[in-house]
Amino acid sequence: MILLSVDVESWVHRPVFNVPLSRQTKALDGEHVLRATRIILELFKKYRAKATFFVLGTVAEWYPELIEAMKKDGHEIGIHGYTHTRLSDHTRESFDDEIKKTILILNRMGVGPRVYRAPAFSSADFLYEVLSNNGIACDSSVFPIKTPLYDGTAYDCRPFIIDRGIVEVPCSVLKISKLRVPAGGFYLRLLGGRINHILLKKIEKKNGTAVLYFHPWEILDIPDKEFVETDLKIKMSFLKKTFTYYGIPMLGDLEYLLGKIDFTSFEGARGHIDATLRR
Ligand SMILES: [Zn+2]
Repeated sequence: MILLSVDVESWVHRPVFNVPLSRQTKALDGEHVLRATRIILELFKKYRAKATFFVLGTVAEWYPELIEAMKKDGHEIGIHGYTHTRLSDHTRESFDDEIKKTILILNRMGVGPRVYRAPAFSSADFLYEVLSNNGIACDSSVFPIKTPLYDGTAYDCRPFIIDRGIVEVPCSVLKISKLRVPAGGFYLRLLGGRINHILLKKIEKKNGTAVLYFHPWEILDIPDKEFVETDLKIKMSFLKKTFTYYGIPMLGDLEYLLGKIDFTSFEGARGHIDATLRR
């Protein structure tokens, strides 16, 4: 089975922009995440795809109508934190506070989240303990590849049971000899829909599951980005700027995959993952 997931955060939360927490506001977002997520929901409806939306608590507060729309369309809603703070910048207490706060916001909207993905695939030794204490049964924070942001090379991408009975479903990376080729997100923009289709199918065949992830800010370009960058005093080298915006908007590649793959949510794959774990 191939799992479809969206990390629902605004462009203001992107680590590359380094926007101070005090300025990560609904006003600065300018309904960007609202418009982008609505486009995603329409696409999923068109292709009858079911997904898991890992939602930031802040975005749920800004746009509760998005949570309603996800529920109405039968998607699963998981959590991605309250702010987009990396786990390495949290204490056990501040992380626990964010998880509790986000669960409470979603509970008030009639959602009982059971899955979690950490901002920027970050990790901390208290991760699984806090998740378990808050009733989260499944995590998807492991990205088994080394990048400047994270080092997940100790892991494979087959689902496994980790501390406290939590099921870890890592994001998808295909190992070809010593090379690791990731699917989804930036790598969907870089490598395109056709190569990602091949990667996901090969990973599914090898591990029983594969995971596609992407973000709403990959669907729509930021309006007036020169103005935004000047206002926020964001300084980027030409190379960094190229990578930051490369392939955005990536609607064509996403539609290609939606047309080729019968995607499901984490919840929809639960029985299949449990069977994989018993083998
Ligand atoms: Zn994120």
